[in-house]
Amino acid sequence: MRHDHLITSKQLSRADIETVLDRAAEIDADPSAVADRHANRLLGLLFFEPSTRTKMSFETAMKRLGGDVVDMGSVESSSVKKGETLADTVRVIEGYADALVLRHPKQGAATMASEFVDVPLLNAGDGAGHHPTQTLLDLYTIRENAGLDDLTIGIMGDLKYGRTVHSLAYALTNFDARQHFVSPESLQLPREVVYDLHQAEGAGIREHESLEEVLPSLDVLYVTRIQRERFPDEQEYQKVAGEYQIDVETLEAASDDLTIMHPLPRVDEIAPAIDETEYAAYFEQAHNGVPVRMALLDLFLQEGGDGDE
Ligand code: ASP
Repeated sequence: MRHDHLITSKQLSRADIETVLDRAAEIDADPSAVADRHANRLLGLLFFEPSTRTKMSFETAMKRLGGDVVDMGSVESSSVKKGETLADTVRVIEGYADALVLRHPKQGAATMASEFVDVPLLNAGDGAGHHPTQTLLDLYTIRENAGLDDLTIGIMGDLKYGRTVHSLAYALTNFDARQHFVSPESLQLPREVVYDLHQAEGAGIREHESLEEVLPSLDVLYVTRIQRERFPDEQEYQKVAGEYQIDVETLEAASDDLTIMHPLPRVDEIAPAIDETEYAAYFEQAHNGVPVRMALLDLFLQEGGDGDE
């Protein structure tokens, strides 16, 4: 894989994706083999928006590779509060770290920031834009549970603001996947994403307002949270809040082999009773963040020059 930065899943070919997933599988099978691989190397964490899984799994991944992290901390406690620009912040922190992970509320922030740094910059979510490292762990989970080819997947919830959805949809065009998008009309995929998906070779995509019509055909159902913080108007959020929830009864129409995923955090989209069923893969999915991010860091740090290989 030859990329300076990881900004969107659009830049990833099928071969790139397979390289990361295969490396993650190797690491998952024997994490001790890489325990000192990146000793003395530092990962800079710049999170301008809340995060639990992404931030902690990057930190865990770097430490399990023998390295460590330097963390900007919260926006409130950093110089951002004094009015520092993102370009200045990343230029400063690249002097402390071998790679950077950036999450920012503004779509496009990661692209802009990457133009100011020479160390690899990994986009950990830019507003309603993209979240490519989440996509890689999603693909890893899909590959383990259902396989990535001849896949029928339903992606449901907030498709307009959900960055994990945008990234996943683009990445799946590399595989033989039929994608069914289920949402209220007001939260459909952005039209430019639909256009791109139609253009992409092999993309079989359909949009629906009801899960019922597609549920029986699905191998994977990827449920998402309504992204309340991205709505310009709380009333608009209230109109769609609570729609598209699934419970054990909903799943009576599903195939026995259905895999249910969610990038988390969930609010009320998936009833807790589903957690105990064979369908639920969302905690496994969150745990897969560690080997997948170890693999990514390993690949990017090697390409940075001082790696073992
Ligand atoms: N954790 C994911 C994200 O950062 C999903 C979500 O917040 O709903 O995009």
